[in-house]
Amino acid sequence: MKIPILDLKPQYASIKTDIHTALDRVLESGAFIMGPEVKQFEQEVAAYLGVQHAIGVNSGTDALVIGLKASGIGPEDEVITTPFSFFATAESISNVGAKPIFVDIDPQTFNLNADHIEAQITPKTKAILPVHLYGHPAAMATIIKVAQKYNLKVIEDCAQAFGAHYRSDEDNNESANDPLKVGHLRDQAVGTIGDVGAFSFFPSKNLGAYGDGGLITTNDDAIAETAKMLRVHGALKKYHNEVLGYNSRLDAIQAAILRVKLQHIDGWNRGRRQVAQSYNDGLANLPGIVTPQVVKGHVFHQYTVRVLDGKRDALKQYLADHDIGSMIYYPVPQDQLPVYLGQYDTLEVSSQYTQEVLSLPIWPELQPDTQNIIIKTIQKFYFG
Ligand SMILES: *Cc1c(COP(=O)(O)O)cnc(C)c1O
Repeated sequence: MKIPILDLKPQYASIKTDIHTALDRVLESGAFIMGPEVKQFEQEVAAYLGVQHAIGVNSGTDALVIGLKASGIGPEDEVITTPFSFFATAESISNVGAKPIFVDIDPQTFNLNADHIEAQITPKTKAILPVHLYGHPAAMATIIKVAQKYNLKVIEDCAQAFGAHYRSDEDNNESANDPLKVGHLRDQAVGTIGDVGAFSFFPSKNLGAYGDGGLITTNDDAIAETAKMLRVHGALKKYHNEVLGYNSRLDAIQAAILRVKLQHIDGWNRGRRQVAQSYNDGLANLPGIVTPQVVKGHVFHQYTVRVLDGKRDALKQYLADHDIGSMIYYPVPQDQLPVYLGQYDTLEVSSQYTQEVLSLPIWPELQPDTQNIIIKTIQKFYFG
């Protein structure tokens, strides 16, 4: 039996009837771009996350680009972000004309090390762009504190973290007597904490559409109004374009699919956390493997271990030889990608981790029997 890194089929089978009903509704309506389906999804997802505005767009990448632009980020500006992410993160910063400034990651959480942000701030710094990588919420209390001190915008890359909750102190080893009043951050959905949240509905994400899709979230009325303009060619009123914008709308068909899936997301995220906990238990006796923290707000888009002693590629090959899929997220830090070659000094932790990380199969419906095969195969790699 081949075990892929991700299997979307069981989830579709479990909601097939509702999906077909939703698709029929859109097909019969004849309204395929924006329209009532998108509006209703936006209202439902805003209520779910607990945010004032939710604005559907074409992709997670567009959500980042439009979110940055709507926050006033552009040429000459610097944006502090993590080196350890999918390239869409830094690409969006570069594409609005700003310069990404990379701050190394926290060795425990794989996320931007918030304690190192302040040292990188210059008069040009305009924003911080943390990524909730693999579904683990970034250290938001510290990030917000620094942002307030230097009057910076915060744009959260939530592409891998739909439904994740930031829980102050608990999930990030942040100081309990933080001078910032973070009471409202005690337990809050990611994407509602900074100025802007950017979500992706790429099919493999925790809340995945059946095609491309994305979402901008904000509690700022002005940012919301600008973002709504930018997604339709810079026009609030049709044919009265005020600024240069984009064509970046969420399709009605994708919105209808997402409305069905939104009703299941909490259970699916619980399923992912359960799978992660079972991996942690099953791999606990292996000194050559560092398992991730299973914190309450984590939604495990990926389950990623560190494989020590230079054995990562050998383990990946061993799993492949036993028909088990695995992936390296990410093999090159963003700052060392060919597109930025020679522009940035190497950062220690993220560079090291690109040689060690290995993501194992995870999806909400992954069965214990199947997972045991994976765990046993890894045990055999070490103990024969
Ligand atoms: C997937 C992803 C994106 C981009 O989302 P798309 O919908 O594919 O454009 C951005 N950032 C991160 C961290 C991602 O994983």
